Amino acid sequence: MDVQQIYKDAHALLEGHFKLSSGNHSQFYLQSAKVLENPRTAEALAAALATQIQEQGIAIDTVCAPALGGLIAGYALASALDVRYIFAERVEGDMTIRRGFEVAKGEKVLICEDIITTGGSAMEAAAVIERLGGDVVAFAALANRGFCRREHSSIQSKNNCKLPHHIPFFALADFDFAMYAPEACPLCLGGSIAVKPGSRGN
Ligand code: ZN
Repeated sequence: MDVQQIYKDAHALLEGHFKLSSGNHSQFYLQSAKVLENPRTAEALAAALATQIQEQGIAIDTVCAPALGGLIAGYALASALDVRYIFAERVEGDMTIRRGFEVAKGEKVLICEDIITTGGSAMEAAAVIERLGGDVVAFAALANRGFCRREHSSIQSKNNCKLPHHIPFFALADFDFAMYAPEACPLCLGGSIAVKPGSRGN
């Protein structure tokens, strides 16, 4: 499965001059929602991810996704794994589990995102699950931004990866493109102005 091509075909790999949520600049931006607008594509990607996880023999009771980014990928993955699905959401900045979702003591939970960058939101969701007594046994994402080491890839974790080394991380592809501090951004030096993804309808 050529995930990079799927992103390109769905116009989900945007090229331009972007200001990322980290404050860094990049020539590219991944908009997974564009890939997932086709439910059949979402199902196919989730099935491939589920196969990787099952081949590793990891038992999962529940998939938990941090909203908003992980919602669709998490739901599709839970369906492919045939397990329960819950989501975590931010309330006044803090990740929480609401809506009557319960987590049993020792319940084996996989945290699913659309894209793992440094894994910050995934780790916040993992902390909530563990506080409730659950056991976080794996992380998964459709795409890996290249900061964390995933199974089946030669990319090594960088210093800013927040995922723990002892829990497996599954993803379908690496999108390891360059990011720049604003003062060192070649696109800025070339005179262009970075835009926040979303500010022009993307
Ligand atoms: Zn720039």
